[in-house]
Amino acid sequence: AKNNGRSQFSFFTRSLQEEALNRLQLSADLRNAVSGGQLRLYFQPIANLGDGLIHKAEALLRWQHPTLGLLQPDEFIGLAEESGQIRKLGNWAFAQAAQWSRKWSRHLGRTVQISINKSAIQFESNGRSMNWKAYLDRLELPHESIIVEITESVLLNASSKTADKLLELRNAGLELAIDDFGTGYSSMAYLKKYEVDYLKIDQSFINDADNEASSRTIAESMILMAHKLGLKVVAEGVETKAQRDWLRSVGCDFAQGFYYSAPLPAKEFEELLYGTRRQ
Ligand code: C2E
Ligand code: CA
Ligand code: CA
Ligand code: CA
Repeated sequence: AKNNGRSQFSFFTRSLQEEALNRLQLSADLRNAVSGGQLRLYFQPIANLGDGLIHKAEALLRWQHPTLGLLQPDEFIGLAEESGQIRKLGNWAFAQAAQWSRKWSRHLGRTVQISINKSAIQFESNGRSMNWKAYLDRLELPHESIIVEITESVLLNASSKTADKLLELRNAGLELAIDDFGTGYSSMAYLKKYEVDYLKIDQSFINDADNEASSRTIAESMILMAHKLGLKVVAEGVETKAQRDWLRSVGCDFAQGFYYSAPLPAKEFEELLYGTRRQ
């Protein structure tokens, strides 16, 4: 039994070591991901519940790793944040999002807003940061073409540096959305401090809405509150027609989720967008 215990222990340490090595290797690989053209930006449609059309999209990163295949954000965003590479990734994603927004907006003759995720670390990092406003100006894109998604924790813990950057984006006319709303903190004082444009109701409330009256009540209260504050609401993780119908009946503005489409490569999203079929 003692032997057994020891071998289990060494197995455990070995796998931990392996894990650490894998992470180290992945972190090193990530350094070449941008220059090596391995990053992909996927787009998930955001539908307007009023007219059923795709008005916007959320841009989501994927990494086409040379040997491991297509990696999802949970496999590399954390690493990128720890190693400081998230800034490079984030700027790449922003530039791509802006270029696609320009193409799609021109084609359709209306602004197709693209929302992109920006984590706390991207706000906090030192050094000269890419000037998003100047980039949009160079592309002659209206600044509201880009929505910046931030989580509640970014706003709640915002240092003066983060607050300044947020206000800068805001004053430049980019729009702001609070991501995963309802999962972080119960304090909503920050809603008074920062003028945000959208609340994104976390998918857990939408998911549980089928079975739990309390989740429905919470979601409906969020919609009421947001509207009273002049914010628009996006429901995340909408997977069924029943959820779509309920959200529409309670006045939710936008919906995003597998019911409409999973995140798609740019070209596939473009086909969906140009088809503009009613959902
Ligand atoms: P998020 O911002 O909350 O993005 C929504 C996630 O929900 C996406 O996962 C999306 O694929 C998934 N999703 C969408 N609709 C449904 C649905 O109907 N049901 C379910 N169960 N899930 C749905 P994804 O693409 O794996 O992204 C995970 C997270 O990675 C994102 O969560 C975001 O926090 C982060 N992320 C992705 N791209 C970036 C980026 O460019 N920068 C930063 N900082 N973070 C990113
Ligand atoms: Ca998001
Ligand atoms: Ca979210
Ligand atoms: Ca999230």
